[in-house]
Amino acid sequence: MADVKKIAVIAGDGIGPEVVAEAEKVLKRTEELFGYQFETEHALFGGIAIDEKGTPLPEETLKVCQSADAVLLGAVGGPKWDNNSKELRPETGLLGIRKALGLFSNIRPAFIFDCLKEASTLKPEVLEGTDLIVVRELTGGIYFGEKFRRETANGQEAVDTCAYSEHEIERIARQAFDIARTRRKKLASVDKANVLETSRLWREVVIRVSADYPDVELEHVLVDNCAMQLLRRPSSFDVIVTENMFGDILSDEAAMLTGSIGMLASASLGEGAFGLYEPVHGSAPDIAGQGISNPIATILSVALMFRLTFGYHEAADSIERAVKEVLDAGHRTGDIAVDKSTAIGTLAMGQLIVDAMRK
Ligand code: NAD
Repeated sequence: MADVKKIAVIAGDGIGPEVVAEAEKVLKRTEELFGYQFETEHALFGGIAIDEKGTPLPEETLKVCQSADAVLLGAVGGPKWDNNSKELRPETGLLGIRKALGLFSNIRPAFIFDCLKEASTLKPEVLEGTDLIVVRELTGGIYFGEKFRRETANGQEAVDTCAYSEHEIERIARQAFDIARTRRKKLASVDKANVLETSRLWREVVIRVSADYPDVELEHVLVDNCAMQLLRRPSSFDVIVTENMFGDILSDEAAMLTGSIGMLASASLGEGAFGLYEPVHGSAPDIAGQGISNPIATILSVALMFRLTFGYHEAADSIERAVKEVLDAGHRTGDIAVDKSTAIGTLAMGQLIVDAMRK
């Protein structure tokens, strides 16, 4: 019997439904080309779920996700819900779904398409060969530690605590080593071990875990140095693993090397192969409904799903090659077009990529 992979599809708000529709065409084409089988189930999430079900994350949506092998998410949010109370905001649903699904890492690849080098603010020769992944710890550290204020002789004092357990560090380190193993086998662990106790524990645990990965070359980079090296020698990085706040900042820095937010995919992973895949961009309410959004980030999120959850590397290669071919041929959506008058729409870009996919 064929191995049918179940994918929960959450289109969400704004441009979410437009870009997800193109990604679903890519899933269909993959079935035809490679003989894989996908069963998709659609679910409501975000603003649309608030409107229709009175909550951003309905129970049935969570059930659909929990019974799936992977989740494909478009984007959520928009001005319509911006002034809602906290529990009725789409972003609250995002935090809720990550927590409920036990997703503790965020994976963000950043690679350069040669033909888009000009879109970056860095010199093309610096960007040459850049192809890296930032693995960010998502549920620990200073964002989740105890927070409070107290009165002192100097007025109010605010405190945010940063805590990491060995367990939290070990599970993300293993994930990063595993990913590095499928790539160029280089891992940069980023910390601030010269100052922070959490970083010293981080480094100890990463070194201990590295004994199980003798084939992966490990380097330790202080976070301030990493921020510089990403601009100076981005192509020397393969996989970067780091804690929550450092990862938040470095993943945005790495993303911007590539020039456009419409091109960037991401994954959130937990224990095992299950993952939630989504473009890095938001719901882009300013262009929603016009058919001009760039579907590439969502299409590349499908490729990432194939690599990280299903191990369908050939199919992922096929998608990434197709995207490259279409861009090399000069096709652009408005966000990446130099001459906006030649820009094509979401549907046309999706179709060109589907047509360019080959076994
Ligand atoms: P955004 O990413 O939605 O848009 C920023 C700019 O980039 C806009 O000008 C938009 O038109 C453009 N853009 C984004 N994606 C594009 C694409 N695929 N093709 C072409 N252009 C694209 O960020 P924002 O404007 O700060 O946020 C809009 C809404 O999205 C907010 O409600 C925010 O909370 C939400 N948001 C959701 C997520 C998510 O679902 N994970 C992430 C970020 C923001």
